Amino acid sequence: MIQNVQILTRNDSYWQDNEWKKWLSGAFSSPNNLLQHLELAPEQLPYRVLPDHPFRQRVPQPFVDRMEAGNPDDPLLLQVLPLAQEAEEVDGYVEDPLGEHDSTLPGLLHKYQSRVLVMLATACAVNCRYCFRREFPYSDNKLGKGDWTAIINYLQQDEDINEVILSGGDPLIANDDYLAAFIKQIETVKHIKRLRIHSRLPVVIPQRITSKLVELLSSSRLQCVFVTHINHPNEIDELLGKAMQRLHQTGITLLNQTVLLRHINDNAETLADLSEKLFDNHILPYYLHLLDKVKGSHHFDTEEAVAVDIMQQLQYRLAGFLVPKLVREEAGKPHKSWIDLANNNQ
Ligand code: SF4
Repeated sequence: MIQNVQILTRNDSYWQDNEWKKWLSGAFSSPNNLLQHLELAPEQLPYRVLPDHPFRQRVPQPFVDRMEAGNPDDPLLLQVLPLAQEAEEVDGYVEDPLGEHDSTLPGLLHKYQSRVLVMLATACAVNCRYCFRREFPYSDNKLGKGDWTAIINYLQQDEDINEVILSGGDPLIANDDYLAAFIKQIETVKHIKRLRIHSRLPVVIPQRITSKLVELLSSSRLQCVFVTHINHPNEIDELLGKAMQRLHQTGITLLNQTVLLRHINDNAETLADLSEKLFDNHILPYYLHLLDKVKGSHHFDTEEAVAVDIMQQLQYRLAGFLVPKLVREEAGKPHKSWIDLANNNQ
């Protein structure tokens, strides 16, 4: 905490490239090192950990700092630790649950009428064990400058598209100069009005909200919407709040999406607390996603009936604008499916 207070009182020089890159390159990649750091001995654990999963563990120190030492059930730890259950084959859990592996163009997915998704980066700062893109063929979707031209041509030809979404891999893995150059290209397409950035990077390394990034997003002619991915109230600390405030001050719209995860946030108390803390930090709860059934994630899945029950409790507890929409994404559907709470037989 003392360290955080020092960080918050530092001037702008703290929010520069060298800070976040330092935390990124020093991320924990070995489960054993992470457990040791959290003072957890293997014999204390109520589960078995995979030391060498191909979808490697990756978790930066600023996120680890929000975990509770000595607690094997810490809700942040359980999101990043590769457990033995990931190796179990379970019917219905597949490599490509959303049918995304055949992209429209390299690095571009056009699933919904008015918006396209561009994968500017092929890695993330944290490897979330429930990620629906954990098997995505990123190596076939690495963007070169030639691919940028193809993407811009694609946007030029379809006037129904008014929004470009930069999404995972995490777009903020790209450095600010690269982002600036790409955004400049998008700005040349007259009918694009909005830029949406989906990122978990500032959640795990708040220092990613650099001064240059804030300037870049706030000075673009595109209206910017920033969507964070926060699953548990313990993920929000003072430093993340400071990062969000930096975006909020410039008028950028802040939204959050959450994945409903068994044993992590599958109860109304935790999610109500999350909504309150999000709003305290200028972020509106946007979506609560049912888990996408990707291979290796079945132990996170929560039944729809449980989700509906939680949502009904949230409606009692929270102001309407703090209740996220419960949604499911389905392969081939031209929009997300909202789960109908009123007509669900509870
Ligand atoms: S940050 Fe997002 S895209 Fe990256 S692993 Fe986590 S959930 Fe997946």
